[in-house]
Amino acid sequence: MSDVQKHAFQAEVQQVLHLVIHSLYSHKEIFLRELISNASDACDKLRFEALANAELTASDSELRIEIEMDPEARTLTVRDNGIGMSGDEVVENLGTIARSGTKRFLEALSGDARADAHLIGQFGVGFYSGFIVADRLTVETRRADLAADQGVRWSSDGSGEFEVATIERAQRGTAVILHLKEGEDEFLQTWRLRQLITRYSDHIAFPIRLPEEKPVGDDKEGEDAAQPVTTETTWETVNHASALWTRPKNEISDEDYQGFYKHIHHGMDEALTWSHNRVEGNQSYTSLLYVPSKAPFDALWSDRNERKGLKLYIRRVFIMDASEQLLPAYLRFVQGVVDSDDLPLNVSRELLQDNKLVSQIRAACTKRSLDLLDKLAVDDAEKFQQFSDNFGNVLKEGLGEDFSNRERIAKLLRFASTKGDGAKKSVSLDQYVERMKADQSVIYFVTADSYNAAKGSPQIEALKAQDVEVLLLFDRIDEWMVGYLHEYNGKPLRHVAKGEFDGASAEDKAEEISEEHKPLVDRLTELLKDRVKAVRPSKRLVDSPACLVLDEHAMALHMQRLMKEAGHEIPADLPVLEINPGHALLQRFADADDAAASDLALLLHEQAVVAEGGQLDDPAAFVQRMNRVLTGTAQAA
Ligand code: ADP
Repeated sequence: MSDVQKHAFQAEVQQVLHLVIHSLYSHKEIFLRELISNASDACDKLRFEALANAELTASDSELRIEIEMDPEARTLTVRDNGIGMSGDEVVENLGTIARSGTKRFLEALSGDARADAHLIGQFGVGFYSGFIVADRLTVETRRADLAADQGVRWSSDGSGEFEVATIERAQRGTAVILHLKEGEDEFLQTWRLRQLITRYSDHIAFPIRLPEEKPVGDDKEGEDAAQPVTTETTWETVNHASALWTRPKNEISDEDYQGFYKHIHHGMDEALTWSHNRVEGNQSYTSLLYVPSKAPFDALWSDRNERKGLKLYIRRVFIMDASEQLLPAYLRFVQGVVDSDDLPLNVSRELLQDNKLVSQIRAACTKRSLDLLDKLAVDDAEKFQQFSDNFGNVLKEGLGEDFSNRERIAKLLRFASTKGDGAKKSVSLDQYVERMKADQSVIYFVTADSYNAAKGSPQIEALKAQDVEVLLLFDRIDEWMVGYLHEYNGKPLRHVAKGEFDGASAEDKAEEISEEHKPLVDRLTELLKDRVKAVRPSKRLVDSPACLVLDEHAMALHMQRLMKEAGHEIPADLPVLEINPGHALLQRFADADDAAASDLALLLHEQAVVAEGGQLDDPAAFVQRMNRVLTGTAQAA
C-alpha cells in the first residue's frame, strides 16, 4: 500500500457540504437514494463500456448494488460492481465540484439559510449527502479496466480535507462506507433500509440487495449464483430491478414515476406531468417524457447549445444523453428516456444526426411533448401556469424554429395583458380572441423592456379607453418572437406603437391633418427636425401629450437600445412623434413665444422618450429645460 496523500477540498465543496448537512437534516434519509442513484449510474456506465470491451464484465456479469450493515462497527456500506474510479477520478469527482449546474447553484445562493435550503431541493446533492448521517465516509473503488493493485481508498470527515491511498482491491466498482453518527442507528435496521429502498429506489434498473435475514439454523438453500463479496451472506433483492419504462403502465404508481424522475434529473423536485408510451410498428421504442416543475440548474435549458435531459437507451442499455438529437431546441426542458429496440448498439453521435429512425423518434417526441402540454393546459391551470412561468420563454423559440407546429405552440403561450392579472403572464391567444370586440379585427400588443413600461405606454391609451385589450410583452425574446407570429387564428397581430393607427374599429379611419392642427404640427416639425421624422396628430393618445411611433417594420426602440448595447450598428431610423392636440401642454405650446416654444417642443419629445423607457442623450440639458418651463424663465436660444 502506498503512502496516504492528503488533499484539501475545493472551496465550493465546503460550501455545498455545509449547506447539505445543515439544510437537509430533516430529510436525512435522502442520502441513501443519492448513493444508490450514483451506484446505478456507475452500473449503466460499465454496461456501456462493456459493449466495446466484453472483458470488463466477463468475470462478474450481473451488475448489482448491495447494501450492508455492520452494527458493531456502526457502518453502512453501499456497494456496486459498476465502472469504479481511478485515483485521478476519485480526486476529481470527490474533491471538486465539476458540474456546471452545481456551480450555478452556488452562484444562486443568497446566504439566507432558509431560502438556500429551498434552493438545494432543486438540484441533486449527490455523494456529499452521506455526511448528513455519517461523521466519516470511506470510499473504496477500482476502475473496471484497471488491475487489482490499482484500487483506491478515499476517506474524509467532511471538514476540509480528504485522504487518498492506493489499495489492493479484488472487486471492480465502488463501496461507500458510512461511519454513522451517534443517533443514526435506524440506518442499521434492515426493515428501515428496505422501506427506504422500496420507497425511493424501486425504479432502479439493477437489483438492489440486502443481506437476507434468516432464522438461526436455516439451511443455505437458494444461495445466490453470483458470489457476493462477503462469502457467507445470502442476498435478497428488494426493488423491482427492471427499468421502470419497461414495466406495464398500470403497474407503475405516480410515486414510481416521480421517483424515477428524481433519479434521471438528479434533483429533488417533482415533475409536473409525464407521458409514457410504447410504439410498435416499423420500428419499436418506448418513450417516457417528463415536464419539469422547475428549471433545473444543470439541465442547461437556458443554453440552446448545451442540452441535456433526454437519455437514449438501446435495448435497455444507456447509450448517451441525446436531447439534441431527439428533441428540437425549444423543447429542451423535456426530460426523460427513449429506449429503442432497433438502433445499433454501437451508434455514435454522428450516426444519430442523420438517421431515419432517429428523425422519426424525434418527430414523435415533439408531438408527444406538445400533446402533453396541451393536456396539462386543459387539466390543471395552476400547473400549466408554473410551466409557463418557467419555460414559456423557451417555448417561444419554437415559433421561429418549428414552422409546422407554429399554431400549436402559439396556443400554448401565455402573456400579460391590459385585461390580465397584473404582470402575471396568464392570458392565452384563444382567450384574447374570444374577448375581442365585435368590430375588432386585429390582436394588439405592445413590446417594452418591463411590465410597467408596457402597461404605461402612451400608445395604448386610446385602446384602453375603448376597452380594447392589449397584450403586454416585456421579455427580451418577445420582439424576436413577434417577427414570427404574424397572425393567430386568422387574426393579424399588430404592434400598437408601429405604423399608422386607425383606431380600434374599421370605420375609425385616419384623417388628413386638419387645417386646425396644421400650424401646430408645422411649428413642432421645424423645432424637432433633428429628432423625429415627422409630427402628426394621434388617435392613440388620451391622457398623454405625445408619444413616439415607428414604421410598421421598424425595430422597436427598446430593441434598438439592446442591439446598440450589444455593440451592433443600428441604421438610424427616426421615429414619428404623435401628438395629442387637445392636451393642455400643446395648447400652451401653440400660444408660446419662440423661446418658450423651443423648450416645450424639446420637452415633449424627451417626455415621449422617457415614457417608453428610453435614455435621454443629454439629461442635464433636459433638467435645465424643465426648470426653465417650471419657473417660467425661458430665454431665446
Ligand atoms: P453527481 O452524481 O450528481 O455528478 P456526485 O457528487 O454524487 O454528483 O458524484 C460526483 C461524481 O463522482 C459522479 O459524477 C461520478 O463520476 C462519481 N461517482 C460517485 N459515485 C460513484 C460510484 N458509485 N461509482 C463510480 N463513480 C461514482
